[in-house]
Amino acid sequence: MFTKVRTRIAPSPTGMMHLGTARTAIYCWAVARHFGGEFLLRIEDTDQERSTAEATQVILDAMKWLNLDYDNKDNLVYQMQRLDRYKQVAQDLIDKGLAYRCYATKEELDEMREEQKRRGEKPRYDGRWRPENCVGEPIPEGITPVIRFRNPDDGVVTWNDGVYGPISIANHELDDLVIMRGDGIPTYNFAVVVDDWDMQISHVVRGADHINNTPRQINIYKAIGAPLPTFAHLPLIHGEDGQKLSKRNGTVSVLLYEELGFLPEALFNYLARLGWAHGNDEKFSREQLAKWFKLEDCSRSSARFNMDKLRWLNHEYIKEATVERLVNLVRPRLTRRGADLNNGMDLNHIVALIKDRESTLEELADGAMLFYNNEPVDPSGLGAQLKANEAKSVEVLELFLRKAGDTPWDKENIYGLIKAVLQEMNVKMPLLAIPLRVLVTGAEKTPSIDSTLEIFGKERVMQRLAEGISKWKELLAGK
Ligand code: GLU
Repeated sequence: MFTKVRTRIAPSPTGMMHLGTARTAIYCWAVARHFGGEFLLRIEDTDQERSTAEATQVILDAMKWLNLDYDNKDNLVYQMQRLDRYKQVAQDLIDKGLAYRCYATKEELDEMREEQKRRGEKPRYDGRWRPENCVGEPIPEGITPVIRFRNPDDGVVTWNDGVYGPISIANHELDDLVIMRGDGIPTYNFAVVVDDWDMQISHVVRGADHINNTPRQINIYKAIGAPLPTFAHLPLIHGEDGQKLSKRNGTVSVLLYEELGFLPEALFNYLARLGWAHGNDEKFSREQLAKWFKLEDCSRSSARFNMDKLRWLNHEYIKEATVERLVNLVRPRLTRRGADLNNGMDLNHIVALIKDRESTLEELADGAMLFYNNEPVDPSGLGAQLKANEAKSVEVLELFLRKAGDTPWDKENIYGLIKAVLQEMNVKMPLLAIPLRVLVTGAEKTPSIDSTLEIFGKERVMQRLAEGISKWKELLAGK
């Protein structure tokens, strides 16, 4: 029936790529790669109001960022470019008596539904324009008809869902759905079947919010004589509050995660694991996912988004990432924070020093700002920290400053210098380290003091210390 495994992701360009769509795309990708098949992208742009070139670009960008490589890069499918094809298939269905034009106005249909509700029935189209129900009926003038699919009246639609197992819906639950609107634009349920047929999609994997559409689509497949793909539905992603994930209870836009400083492979891994498991594996590569992935291992209950876990994974991937890559990712974030990247500090060195401590690129940038802030040296807070030892601490710093001039400026030698000063003055670490940190960096907490001073460079350290010590002395003298 199908010569090859083919999956597709078919987002509607609405201005962002939803996290749930990204997860579906990852699973579609994994199915295709697992079987050596193809993974295709289709843009469902029939909602003319929301679908813009920018909205489509957002999807392409998100796919690219997540490294979701699709196999029809040069041949993307846009539904709006296929209107003739839908028209043709709809006409074929009409010719075969499996679809018909319906001239009912909106008012008539509203009235019909009201009436049904009054009778306590479920509102459904009553088939008034089925050919046998309107024999001799004149075609109303001035009304552009829609085309409706003639859904079978009896029997049951059953499919073996790749995730949920067998699902059945009785045909009498379904009505004759509109497949083509008056303006010649197909409805979702029709376009998706024609597209999946033409694209020879063997596995339709999508969100569980589409389960109700599947029996309708299966009936259309049968009517047009197309082979049925495997359908698999994925439970939705919920927010940390247990409600369906939305803008209100979480971050839903894929590209916002990029802004928040997540690495694409971390989000990819996180989403892949959210709703699917391979034993106890939490961290795995794309290749491993492709090798291990089976639709039947997907969970049937909804997954709950967990920011802490995503942060943990991101931290793991940041630790693994090369310094060069991180530097490139952090640089624009520092510029946005107003850092002067030409201040002589070695960003490679900075990133190498702090990368294992941070969970996101934003945190990495915040951490790196220690080396870029030009806060004036301010000793005023030191008194509180050093209590009665301020005078002694000044002496210790002065000795440090004197000896610094002759010290080769690398981590080991700076460490040796600190030890020597402490020993000579017979004092403990805080008396030296606290004011060193504050006067040189402006912060009370820094990465290891020797590495930090190394990055600041001897000249800058000595200049800031000299300035800091004199200000501190003035302050003490004024007390
Ligand atoms: N455009 C639909 C959506 O984004 C596609 C659903 C499907 O995969 O059939 O939900």
